[in-house]
Amino acid sequence: MAEGLRYVCNGCGHAIEAWSDGNPYYIDETGAKQYAYHPDHERLDQCIGNDSPHLCLSCGHEFMMDSLAPVSACSNCAAHKLVPTYQLDGQPCPYCKAGVFVADPDSHCIS
Ligand SMILES: [Zn+2]
Ligand SMILES: [Zn+2]
Repeated sequence: MAEGLRYVCNGCGHAIEAWSDGNPYYIDETGAKQYAYHPDHERLDQCIGNDSPHLCLSCGHEFMMDSLAPVSACSNCAAHKLVPTYQLDGQPCPYCKAGVFVADPDSHCIS
């Protein structure tokens, strides 16, 4: 079960959608990375890693963090201010530098 959230900056209104479980993946016979999508539970059991969306709080760069090859610095600006997008609650907005992200209660959903 995945939990979906939407965070909205209370300064500029920039919205970011977040899912709590990222994109689990497995490696197929040819060595290629394959994503397992819900509700493919057979495939999910074979998953060895997870790509989860992260946001750089310094420049606003959004990217996927690979759990098997995590990075600590932003590939765009080299700042060490990377947070998972589903943990954005209360984090400063990198777009307007004035507001903070708050969870949008209206968009909370479970799939
Ligand atoms: Zn903002
Ligand atoms: Zn950055």
